[in-house]
Amino acid sequence: MRKRYLMTPGPTPVPAEVLLAQARPIIHHRTAEFSGILEQVTTDLKYIFQTRNEVMTFAASGTGAMESAVANLFSRGDKVVVASNGKFGERFAELTQAYGLEAINIKYDWGKMVVPQDIEVKLAADSEIKGVFVVHSETSTGVLNDIKAIGEIVKDHQAVLVVDSITGIGAVELKMDDWHLDVVMTGSQKGLMLPPGLACVAISDKAARAMETSTLPKYYFSYKSALKALRKAVPTTPFTPPVSLIIGLSAALKMMREEGLENVIKRHSLLAEATRKGLEAMGLWLFAPEKGRSSAVTPAWVPDGIDGKAVVKIMKEKYGITIAGGQSHLAGKIFRFGHLGYFDRFDIIGGLAALEMTLTELGHKFELGSGVKAAEQVFMENAK
Ligand SMILES: *Cc1c(COP(=O)(O)O)cnc(C)c1O
Repeated sequence: MRKRYLMTPGPTPVPAEVLLAQARPIIHHRTAEFSGILEQVTTDLKYIFQTRNEVMTFAASGTGAMESAVANLFSRGDKVVVASNGKFGERFAELTQAYGLEAINIKYDWGKMVVPQDIEVKLAADSEIKGVFVVHSETSTGVLNDIKAIGEIVKDHQAVLVVDSITGIGAVELKMDDWHLDVVMTGSQKGLMLPPGLACVAISDKAARAMETSTLPKYYFSYKSALKALRKAVPTTPFTPPVSLIIGLSAALKMMREEGLENVIKRHSLLAEATRKGLEAMGLWLFAPEKGRSSAVTPAWVPDGIDGKAVVKIMKEKYGITIAGGQSHLAGKIFRFGHLGYFDRFDIIGGLAALEMTLTELGHKFELGSGVKAAEQVFMENAK
């Protein structure tokens, strides 16, 4: 027998409470029982998104939510700014292109942070710009972009700010309303501790106005239909919702509510800090810049002379721990340690221990136990 651990930044482990809630026999969605669950889920999601507006749910992965923002708020030929510094920012660029928007792409090297002033310059130069797209926690690189500063810039402009916080929500601070964010989205298999398959999106009043003039085609992902159904006296969804996932979500949100959002974020920040200290103590270099590190995932450079793909393979096959490798041109060069969602201290300790054994086997020279020790010290300093 080998116990398996999922330590990727999506999908993430699902707590037993959530699995059990999802295992219940299917109930019909046009019932008071389901509407009651949906109403509670919407209330809890507003808390997690820190917004007064409704949070819509769609049966889709996170990319469905990204696509829905393009289709619902824009028209063919609209000028938009896409600031990208990793794989998911590039996805926004591809999506805006697929829908015939005229994108002004601001591209940064993977691992660099988006510079808010660069967006400011573009907006100041062109009053026609209708939207700004940016990723909050760039999962491909572990970089956390300064969304608050970007919100401060975009709020005085007609453009709507679309934020992919798919691995930000539930891991790092995000205040949708206070930060003037117009569209915020997440996916179920990340910080929400659910299986894949559910996308959540909220829009501001400013985005709702953009929705009124959008002429791009949409049907299943129509925000108007979703909001209309959600605003009924008995809230519902336009089409059959993924009933089990919504019920699982209600259990996951209950756990998050009980822990308290601030504590959820503090826990992630501590887990990230212990991971970073552990990796550094093993002689590894962290990939993301010190000023902009996400608490969702910690990428590190694979040491010189070591095959990064072998690291991921040995971790999985010998120790039962699935971590993520690098994406695109970073494949084999970095590995990514996910600690997003249902994670606690001993997940980190165990993951670091397996990494120590793996790197030792591959010939990396350091003192066995040094990473675990450094992580333990972070946890002991912060133990309540
Ligand atoms: C996971 C993720 C997505 C969505 O990916 P899906 O595979 O469609 O769920 C988008 N953006 C970021 C930053 C992500 O981490």
